[in-house]
Amino acid sequence: MNNPSVAGSRVFVYEVVGLRQNEATDKTNSPIRRSGSVFITVPYNRMNQEMQRIARMGGKIVSIQPLTSENGANGKTTPGSGLPETKLEENPKPMTQAKEKTEHKKDIPVNLYRPNAPYIGKCLSNQELVREGGEGTVRHLKFDLSAGNLRYLEGQSIGIIPEGTDKNGKPHKIRLYSIASTRHGDDLDDKTVSLCVRQLVYKHPETGEQVFGVCSTYLCNLEPGADVKITGPVGKEMLLPDDPEATIIMMATGTGIAPFRAFLWRMFKEKEQNPDYQFKGLAWMFFGCAYTPNILYKDQLEELTQQYPDNFRLTYAISREQKNASGGKMYIQDRIKENADQLWELIQKPNTHTYICGLKGMEGGIDEGMSAAASKFGVNWADYQKQLKKQERWHVETY
Ligand code: FAD
Repeated sequence: MNNPSVAGSRVFVYEVVGLRQNEATDKTNSPIRRSGSVFITVPYNRMNQEMQRIARMGGKIVSIQPLTSENGANGKTTPGSGLPETKLEENPKPMTQAKEKTEHKKDIPVNLYRPNAPYIGKCLSNQELVREGGEGTVRHLKFDLSAGNLRYLEGQSIGIIPEGTDKNGKPHKIRLYSIASTRHGDDLDDKTVSLCVRQLVYKHPETGEQVFGVCSTYLCNLEPGADVKITGPVGKEMLLPDDPEATIIMMATGTGIAPFRAFLWRMFKEKEQNPDYQFKGLAWMFFGCAYTPNILYKDQLEELTQQYPDNFRLTYAISREQKNASGGKMYIQDRIKENADQLWELIQKPNTHTYICGLKGMEGGIDEGMSAAASKFGVNWADYQKQLKKQERWHVETY
């Protein structure tokens, strides 16, 4: 049997390497091995202090696991209130959460419609999301699915085959788009799917000519009533955990908000449709764009912050309007640095999932912000992130 004082759900096991005894910073004289891992049990409310203490002693935390009956029952861990004394022969078993999630992945619909036999859906609506003064075009599109059996989950994507042929006279290839609606669709009848699409426009690097992306232009100009070829759904990377008490951290730039709209609608707007998923955790979204009129779904998001102040936080990084602490443009990574301590604390919790979606390249800045947070506690971010990925708690979809 576990000791009930340490076996509760809010006790964690730190695996630490490289600890040295330092008379100047810690007066305890317990024996410590200079090499190999030591394991320290830490109650949730002492996690940050303990990290700082370990850092002072030159230690590096290589893993943090919740204390379970499997990794705590042998009593070989050392409570965080004192210095670690025991080197374990074996590592504690890894978290079970990741395994459960993989099991759960078996029920995910994938490739119900393939490119050689796509579903032909009708465009029901096509609305501009960028307000006056903003840059570019981003459209919210809704397609009818009632004539087939295309089902999907929040966080998945569908493929679109644009009309026409490429420069070699061949049919265009599919492009993927993150689904922006919940499984119930925007009309809550399980018969639609919605996308959030930015029209790609760029200057040709050699000719200087303006080039319009094939599929994004096709979609942005699509008339209600038009047929559209849809494939999929695909994707298992960005799924929400089933746990209604989870902490969900979302970081989006531009249309990267699409899966998070689906998440947030599921968590907050469609409670009646999901009796088995009554969200009680914390959702925190960081959204980055150039100008205020480019904040997608702004009114609905802000309404959610009003309705659910304890469960939903929204942090904008508006690069051309806001300034970061050093007077430069405000990007998502600057907001991460500002909130580093809190984010770091949240990420320690075994039921916290972090999702990144949007432009390729945004990950670099986020890693920079997280490195700064982790290093304060003597943790190497790259190592820690690897562990989060292994536990399926760090989810990235950039394009
Ligand atoms: P294309 O005609 O295919 O042109 C794209 C090509 O143009 C690029 O490959 C590159 O060669 C070139 N190019 C692009 N920019 C430049 C530049 N600045 N300078 C020089 N050359 C350039 N998009 C969304 O809008 N919303 C979404 O929710 C979304 N979700 C996605 C989810 C996933 C999993 C993936 C993989 C992609 C997603 N995309 C999304 C992107 C989308 O799939 C398309 O790539 C995008 O719409 C552009 O396609 P296009 O046919 O318009 O452009």
